[in-house]
Amino acid sequence: MANSSSVHLDTQLQHAGTAPFDPVLGAAPVALPSMRTSTVRFQNLDALERAQTDKAKGERSVTYGRVGMDTHAALEQIFCDLEGADRAFLASSGLGAITLALFSVLNSGDHVMVADCAYGPVRYLDKTVLGRMNIEVSYSRATVADLADQLRPNTRVLYVESPGSLLFEMLDIPALAAFARQHNLILATDNTWGSGYVYRPLDLGADISVVAGTKYVGGHSDLMLGAVMAKDPDIIRRLNDTHYAMGYSISADDAWLAIRGARTLPIRMRQTAEHALEICRFLAGRAEVARIFHPAWADDPGHALWQRDCTGSNGMLSVELKLDNAAARRFVDSLTLFGIGFSWGGFESLVQLVDHAALRPHGYWQPTDNAIVRLHIGLESPQDLIADMTRALEMAAQG
Ligand SMILES: *Cc1c(COP(=O)(O)O)cnc(C)c1O
Repeated sequence: MANSSSVHLDTQLQHAGTAPFDPVLGAAPVALPSMRTSTVRFQNLDALERAQTDKAKGERSVTYGRVGMDTHAALEQIFCDLEGADRAFLASSGLGAITLALFSVLNSGDHVMVADCAYGPVRYLDKTVLGRMNIEVSYSRATVADLADQLRPNTRVLYVESPGSLLFEMLDIPALAAFARQHNLILATDNTWGSGYVYRPLDLGADISVVAGTKYVGGHSDLMLGAVMAKDPDIIRRLNDTHYAMGYSISADDAWLAIRGARTLPIRMRQTAEHALEICRFLAGRAEVARIFHPAWADDPGHALWQRDCTGSNGMLSVELKLDNAAARRFVDSLTLFGIGFSWGGFESLVQLVDHAALRPHGYWQPTDNAIVRLHIGLESPQDLIADMTRALEMAAQG
């Protein structure tokens, strides 16, 4: 399943998962069908035993429905191409992929250091499950200096997310990878923001990359999906064992939808990134705006890291507004082209008024009474979005 990088990633994304020709007709569908199956039948016992031998070696091998057939394999290839990985393992949600990654590399008694900017539900996993398994978790800013203070004799894993959730704090993945190597830690990172297309943590030294395919890969707000990617054979073996033992599985129809989404990932990500910068330019000219959080924006503190490590951006940004909570609520409620809701990476614009309680654990946040609003800029006309936001800011001012 190694990626074939002799052609541009845009080309790979169009050609991964090509359906084989029918041997009689000499014809094939352009789009790989959804190969739904709960089990597999073999031509003879020799074929079954070959599959079992491959499986015992830890190779991708189809012996039963859970691992899926051609549709799943094609989606795994796409994730490998995106991330520069040798294997990809699918889970039924992004959070499922996070648990697969962590359960594959943590043992009872281990300590995991988690970036304070990581996706919020990771703390819920810690509180409800990891604690019960006697796994210690600590949170800090993910800089080498902060992490060095958190090291314990039983620290095994460093789990981060770059750019971070809510405020898009860029992390220095190569520096974190060097730190992890020095202390014999596994570096796992949530790469949902980059989705492999504009940011490749494995190339920058991370051991594991986790992506919520629910967001940009699916791209149409109509499926839940997660994937875990790695290059190291020992980590791949552990992911393979845990994936099998824990029964992670996705439907062929969801794999099919995700493949369809991945074909247009390049143009969707480029376009939403362009729109987000247009929105940043608009916001920068507004008196209500105190700060813009978007690493592709030149004033963002992470801009230099973004320029060094990323090849593009996306439609996500947050903005600090000099509005009290009541005015910020009027602003959000007055928007007509932005859905109020979680998630992102689809075709449509979304808005979320970020609770200060959710920001408080983030060392990157400089607490003020100002409102933080997170936006996903979609594929609507940016002029229409700007008109909508202009009107909503006027409504916010009319206390
Ligand atoms: C949404 C998200 C997840 C979880 O993905 P689901 O498919 O919703 O479970 C994980 N990490 C990040 C950064 C996300 O934005």
